[in-house]
Amino acid sequence: MYVKPQMKKLEMYVPGKSTGGIKLSSNENPFGASPKIREVLAQFNTFERYPDGGTTLLKEKLAAFLNVEKNQLIFGAGGDEVIQMISRSVLSPGDNIIQAFPTFPQYEHHAIIEDADIQNIPLKNGVHDLDGMLAAVNPKTKMIWVCNPNNPTGTYVNEVDLKNFLDAVPTQVLVVVDEAYVEYVTAKDFPNTIPLLAQYPNLVILRTFSKVYGLASFRIGYGIGNVDFIQDLEVGRLPFNTSAIAQEAAAVALDDQAFVEASMTANTAGLLQYVDFLEEAGVPYYPSQANFIFIPSPRKLGLEIGAKLMDAGYIVRSFPRGIRITIGTKADNEGIIACLKEHLDMLG
Ligand SMILES: *Cc1c(COP(=O)(O)O)cnc(C)c1O
Repeated sequence: MYVKPQMKKLEMYVPGKSTGGIKLSSNENPFGASPKIREVLAQFNTFERYPDGGTTLLKEKLAAFLNVEKNQLIFGAGGDEVIQMISRSVLSPGDNIIQAFPTFPQYEHHAIIEDADIQNIPLKNGVHDLDGMLAAVNPKTKMIWVCNPNNPTGTYVNEVDLKNFLDAVPTQVLVVVDEAYVEYVTAKDFPNTIPLLAQYPNLVILRTFSKVYGLASFRIGYGIGNVDFIQDLEVGRLPFNTSAIAQEAAAVALDDQAFVEASMTANTAGLLQYVDFLEEAGVPYYPSQANFIFIPSPRKLGLEIGAKLMDAGYIVRSFPRGIRITIGTKADNEGIIACLKEHLDMLG
């Protein structure tokens, strides 16, 4: 059967391994989700009805929470679907996107499906090289992805640098700032992007309920942008793309900010466990603002280090050039650190 030739260029998404150990490979919340979600599940009984395609209740709550207009929000089956909707709406064959390397693979994945080209601009000292990204803009450039904090490195672009970048990007080029981990951020100079929307019509922000809210299995995420752009995306959205139960769970999760706070506080403490160990051992790492930490392996021993952790009962995300570990419970972090201490010769 005929498929678009670019489909043959895609690689199948290989999810993080999920059995045979404690899973710290997909940046899920190790503390689960708000306990109040259970009550929603117990009461849910309108199985036969289509969900509210307009996501009315959640949209109202989220608009008030974020201090934006309701029509500035679009929901997707995870942030992933919002990435797909944006790519599908913006890219035509021969266009190009600009992204950091390495970054979240879905940006590239959907650009390929739309037959657009990808310009990879390597991270500089682990951080987005915004000057390099700007220099790569050409007449065929339709969008630039800024993953902030960046997955897999956890590093971030600060507010001053992001604003200078937005000032310099031509206004017809969309800038998508993916903030999947924003709730975990502690850096004081991290950009406050929502107020920037008023100033930059070409800015859009992505967020999700999959990470700190602990709702990855429900598949719900969202984009925040200027009304015109979001409404253009809305036209292409599948009518019932988020389930009723996901909408309800997200609304309850949003109301339980105490759970978010507790998760965030535990994460900050967990990151510090790793930083203390890595500093003391003299092992280079990327400073992280997210719920994971990336330990680069200049000797490309990442897969081997990942295998050692697997033997010890921990599933992490390993690449030849390093490992990305989701911050777990205090005990998980201690267990991983103990294992890494046994294999210090492989690190750095
Ligand atoms: C996890 C993640 C997302 C979205 O995940 P969903 O589960 O589809 O909401 C988006 N961007 C980055 C960088 C992520 O790590």
